[in-house]
Amino acid sequence: MLVDYPDIFTNLNEITNHPTIINTMSDHYERVKIELQQMKAVESEAAADKEQLSPASVTSVPAEVSFAARRDLSRSSINGRSRSKSRSKADGHERQVNGKQLSDLTPQKSDYSQEKGQSRLSNEQNIKGTLRLLKGKTAANGHVESCQREKDLKCEHHGKEDGSKVAKKRRAVTVDTSKAKTSLEALKMSIRQLKWKEFPMGRRTACDIYWHGVSFHDNENIVSGQVNKFPAGMIEMLRKINLSRAVRTMQELFPEEYNFYPRSWILPEEYQLFSTQIRLLKDNDSTLKPTFIVKPDSGSQGDGIYLIRDPADLRVISGSQIKQAVVQEYIQKPLLIDKLKFDIRLYVLVRSLEPLEIYIAKEGLSRFCTEPYQEPSQKNLSHVFMHLTNYSLNVHSGNFVHSDSCSTGSKRTFSSVLYRIASKGVDIKKVWSDIIALVIKTVIALVPELKVYYQADIPPGKPGPTCFQILGFDILLMKNLKPVLLEVNANPSMRIEHEQEVSPGVYEYVPSPVDEEVKVGVIRDTLRLMDPAQRKQHVTSNTEGGSPEDAIVVETGSDEKESLTDSLPSLCLKQVFPKYTKQFNYLRVVERIAAIFLRFLGVKGTMRLGPTGFRTFIRNCKLSNSSFSMASVDILYIDITRRWAGMLPDSREAGMSLQAFIEAFFYLAARRFKAVLLREQVLLLLEVCEGALEGQSHSEKPRPQRSHPAQSSAPNAFSSPALTRRHHLRHQPLQLSAKANTEN
Ligand code: ADP
Repeated sequence: MLVDYPDIFTNLNEITNHPTIINTMSDHYERVKIELQQMKAVESEAAADKEQLSPASVTSVPAEVSFAARRDLSRSSINGRSRSKSRSKADGHERQVNGKQLSDLTPQKSDYSQEKGQSRLSNEQNIKGTLRLLKGKTAANGHVESCQREKDLKCEHHGKEDGSKVAKKRRAVTVDTSKAKTSLEALKMSIRQLKWKEFPMGRRTACDIYWHGVSFHDNENIVSGQVNKFPAGMIEMLRKINLSRAVRTMQELFPEEYNFYPRSWILPEEYQLFSTQIRLLKDNDSTLKPTFIVKPDSGSQGDGIYLIRDPADLRVISGSQIKQAVVQEYIQKPLLIDKLKFDIRLYVLVRSLEPLEIYIAKEGLSRFCTEPYQEPSQKNLSHVFMHLTNYSLNVHSGNFVHSDSCSTGSKRTFSSVLYRIASKGVDIKKVWSDIIALVIKTVIALVPELKVYYQADIPPGKPGPTCFQILGFDILLMKNLKPVLLEVNANPSMRIEHEQEVSPGVYEYVPSPVDEEVKVGVIRDTLRLMDPAQRKQHVTSNTEGGSPEDAIVVETGSDEKESLTDSLPSLCLKQVFPKYTKQFNYLRVVERIAAIFLRFLGVKGTMRLGPTGFRTFIRNCKLSNSSFSMASVDILYIDITRRWAGMLPDSREAGMSLQAFIEAFFYLAARRFKAVLLREQVLLLLEVCEGALEGQSHSEKPRPQRSHPAQSSAPNAFSSPALTRRHHLRHQPLQLSAKANTEN
């Protein structure tokens, strides 16, 4: 039985009850139902289409031919390179054998990969309908493996007919691809499909769009246009520790809404806390055998990750250095397909920070482990091919299956996984709406700090481009189908080729149909959404003053499909914010705190608040009174700032960071208001501050200090905010969470 909700996640259901999401999803499903009736006819049409455009049927030709055809279409100059490499395990024959073994593990293989009888038809149609839902109009053909090729052909075809008309009407959008690095191939294909103009060596005059492979600073001399990376903040924010901190802040305010992120501890600072909590947990219930996963802060691709069952097994020190890492509750019961653990890579476009605009790609990747999954035991803890889904690790397993098809092998499309689980009767629209909620909530957790970074890099008044960014969300589906956030990648790989052993010991980069299927769509449609002609005129630009976020005023209300040319497939990116603003705006509390922080930070390119700035904040918001003197304010500042300086050893700037300011704000809120929940206290304090600051915006002189009549009296004793925060953390439902994980 797949649907079996444990306590820990029962509250994640709330999004499914949001009428807008349900309605939107139901609309899709209604359409899908109608389309299902026509599916057979459409399929034969599509097949006929394909034959007309390409004599070689994709599904019937050998892999090499299929690749060649694809290469011809795209004319991508994949940097094929051969090199010798001796690897004892993997030779071609063994790979084939292992591939067979993998498919042999598939009890339901025949359910959807072989010719089906009439009795299976309705189920099959349902699955195909889902594909259509995921891919929009372009997925006319139910065969997953041929969908991209067909799409390419259609794009090329449409491009020939309509591209010239479009070109006559307006100047082609210019894209600087000189810094695209490994995303270059997918980017080139996208630009070709759009009939835009590429500048592979850069351009003297400004381009409309700059595509960077790594960071905003790949090219330092951009003063206008749009760059596909936010300033440094995005990479920083998505390091494992910072992501955990940002989510934890939200968990303190909204514990139920944010329980999609596994319970985490930050090392080394929370080593003692972790050890104590686990000891208490085990003392209370000796049947519990929780497992934890340890991830180095700056690691990626599974590097340095290991599983433990006891805090004593933590490798906290490497050489003389204390390792920075996150130790996290291990999800012991993931959903399995073909007995294998897998995760989902979803691409999310943050189109703008202010107003916040988020798009989710309707298609993603599923990366499979290469050793059948077993729940963690002391014996299998070190089996990386069983527990870690990273492509970069599993590709080195002898069991890795490269496949031309999007629905088999060790890397598949997410839609093919959804068919698979839909065929078991699972409500996949609920899975999708849970994933959408997870993505929106995670971005909401990141935005406050991103805005601080943004202002530091592109302060108002400084000429600069506007930014957007594609993020890679790694999500695990639990056995009960609840999505769990593993991590967010600031620079998800956009490579559409993979290294393959073409003959024993010889490796080459060959096109990867699955990667191409997903990634070209994501890049192309991101470009379409960033097309300057599709965006309303900016009300103001950075050079004209105002906040950097004000520089972008985007058409947010209209349906994206309407505003884009008909000559291309419908967008594979779905707007989820501001679309679902009503359901999620109440979570944007920390952003309001960040706005106050930014106001007192000034616009000098700094990210830290000095003691004077903090005093001015207290004074202007009228937060000091007889029981909370300015001397106490200074102690508060020093106490929190020092502690955070210890936790952020890399930071070069002195002063109070946003995270420290948030802690101070929480402390002040808890001190001032007697409300039961922290979030109520914080909301009350926000009202006080915003009210006071709004009054000041209207008058030049600050008004004399007065205590707020609605405020309750503050406790007299000054207790350390650090202690208050720790106290709060101690009350996180550790027991529930660990239990739920082991019992689900
Ligand atoms: P990296 O950046 O090194 O890839 P991840 O956080 O993505 O680090 O973890 C690597 C892999 O470990 C994931 O792809 C997933 O398979 C597994 N994993 C990570 N966190 C958990 C967890 N809390 N529970 C179960 N598996 C996890």
